[in-house]
Amino acid sequence: MSRINPEFSKELRKYGAFDFNACYNCGNCTAVCSLSTAESSFPREMVRLSVLGLEEDIQASLKPWECYYCGECSTLCPQEADPGELMMSLRRYLTAKYDWTGLSGLLYKYLPLTLTAFALTLMGVLYFAHAVDYELSTMLHIGHIFEGIAIGTIGLFILLPNIARMWYFTILKPKVKVPFSNYVKSMGELFVHMFTQKRALGCDDNQFRWFEHLILVIGYLSLLFTTVALNWFSTSNILIISFGYLVSVIVFIVTIDFVNSRIKKQKAVSQHSQPSDLFFVIWLFFMGFSAFMVRLFIDLNILETNKWLYIFHLTVLVQWALIIVPFGKWTHFLYRSFAMFFVKLKEG
Ligand code: SF4
Ligand code: SF4
Repeated sequence: MSRINPEFSKELRKYGAFDFNACYNCGNCTAVCSLSTAESSFPREMVRLSVLGLEEDIQASLKPWECYYCGECSTLCPQEADPGELMMSLRRYLTAKYDWTGLSGLLYKYLPLTLTAFALTLMGVLYFAHAVDYELSTMLHIGHIFEGIAIGTIGLFILLPNIARMWYFTILKPKVKVPFSNYVKSMGELFVHMFTQKRALGCDDNQFRWFEHLILVIGYLSLLFTTVALNWFSTSNILIISFGYLVSVIVFIVTIDFVNSRIKKQKAVSQHSQPSDLFFVIWLFFMGFSAFMVRLFIDLNILETNKWLYIFHLTVLVQWALIIVPFGKWTHFLYRSFAMFFVKLKEG
């Protein structure tokens, strides 16, 4: 029997939810959601669990990760309980629960703390630049080493343990029996979802957004590969240079549309942007844009006289790697992919 947390509503509001207690259980949201099945009431079950404060059941559920926020349930809710936004808030809440450091929750809930983290990283980069006497080749070299070390360290010490905690909450603690052979058999599901996010196609009218996401994932991973593995800023190989330009342009064009959509609140997913959502798209845009400009300045031979540009790019990179990837919205991409894998495990 799950324990009721009477404070749960209050807690969830800190993650962006607001009117879900207005739900009178009419079932419109379940009727309209394309993820609903005879056995699975989407998203009403999560609304009920949230209203009742059944925190352990929520932590054991993978449903918030299955929702791709098409917003149809919110549009048709007669009580304006905004079940789509509730699912989004549950994803933020779960991200905080999986994170062993506790930093995700703090950064989601307290904006001044996030701003302080951004300011500290900026100061760290400025201090580093000053310490190496603004020597461009040293900054480029250490910036490149930082990327590799950050990926390894964050992956090993933050993301991997958090995935293990997600597995504990959703598979081990609820005592779901999964034979080892199922882990092997279902592994393909993990990679398919990670690279294609194909579950998003389950929502009606979501094809364009899904396509944009797909392009963004490919563009982002390619940019990462080009800068880290192919050392884009220091190579003279024309193919690598051209490829880097191409992927950085893709990243910043797609993110312009995402930022624009968030600002204009064109889609349901953009109606109630939290600071973490904005930081994610804006920093992704800065990454693509500043990487493109740094390489362009190298090719025009004017980076030496405009070192501020590389310092700006490095700041964006450090904030992305130390704040947004391990503790911010980036983790949704990872948890969503693993959620699809775990769903497959549970189905057997
Ligand atoms: S449509 Fe609104 S009121 Fe009806 S069950 Fe869903 S959340 Fe509750
Ligand atoms: S936002 Fe879309 S996918 Fe998510 S619960 Fe609502 S109708 Fe279903």
